[in-house]
Amino acid sequence: MTQTEIRGNMLHPKGTLYLAATPIGNLEDMTFRAVRILQEAPLIAAEDTRHTRKLLARYDIHTRLTSYHEHNKLEKGPRLVDFLVEGHDLVCVSDAGLPGIADPGGHLAELAIAAGVQVSPLPGANAALSALICSGIDARRFTFIGFLPRTAAKSRELLAEIAVRQETLIFYEAPHHLKNTLKALIAAFGASRSAVAARELTKRYEEFRRGTLSDILAHYSEEEPRGEFVLIVAGAEESAVKENALTETPKELVTYFMEEGRTKKEALRETAKRLNMSRRDVYQILLEE
Ligand code: SAM
Repeated sequence: MTQTEIRGNMLHPKGTLYLAATPIGNLEDMTFRAVRILQEAPLIAAEDTRHTRKLLARYDIHTRLTSYHEHNKLEKGPRLVDFLVEGHDLVCVSDAGLPGIADPGGHLAELAIAAGVQVSPLPGANAALSALICSGIDARRFTFIGFLPRTAAKSRELLAEIAVRQETLIFYEAPHHLKNTLKALIAAFGASRSAVAARELTKRYEEFRRGTLSDILAHYSEEEPRGEFVLIVAGAEESAVKENALTETPKELVTYFMEEGRTKKEALRETAKRLNMSRRDVYQILLEE
């Protein structure tokens, strides 16, 4: 039975779960439809009610708010689904962008679908795609990675797996982890991979820093990273995939120079020069490996 048939046949049709995009920095990035549905819905499930209240105030929305986040989703999710099954609409929002993309929302959608509730998007801002379309890097095929796992071993494992992928890769990162993430990317993909760091999208200090991974690391080693970041990284070159060898990682270069008979110190210096990185960064990458 389709949702329309269910709706037509039942005395109490189920409500709709709307997953609504909210701005990623600029409060003007709301759609007319999202504002109207947020105004008309009886309840909004928000990742952080205090944060969402500011957005609602800007658009004169007085809908009741309830919290729905990573730490209460198991207990709260089923209750919200009961509310939908009773026939009420519900809008789910996260702090920024699309719910369900590195944010709560996906689990609620799964529960709602399992209960036969219609799930509908209210599209809008998203950091990953906004960065991708302005990056100048191939947007025809891409993989969204989001945040790297926080443990070094898991992160290395994931990066090793995706190092030979030819499509563009998209990462999310917080400013205090940015340099370490760039070092991990260099260790796995090589320093000369093209990349773009997209910072503070839609905000006053929006910036796109383009170059190789080592250029971007060099810049943020000089200037402390501030704000929110999306990293867009070009896919592996076909030739690198064919040879199945990425010969420009710091570890490979240091090994190569040492096998040529140079001392460790000379090998580090040569590697740093070749990759346009500081000796300290090369050394730290080797230590972390
Ligand atoms: N749901 C959001 C979306 O659809 O983009 C993502 C939320 S995730 C918890 C937060 C991360 O998204 C940040 O750490 C950053 O990597 C990225 N991000 C969010 N807003 C951004 C912005 N204005 N500029 C750059 N990156 C942003």
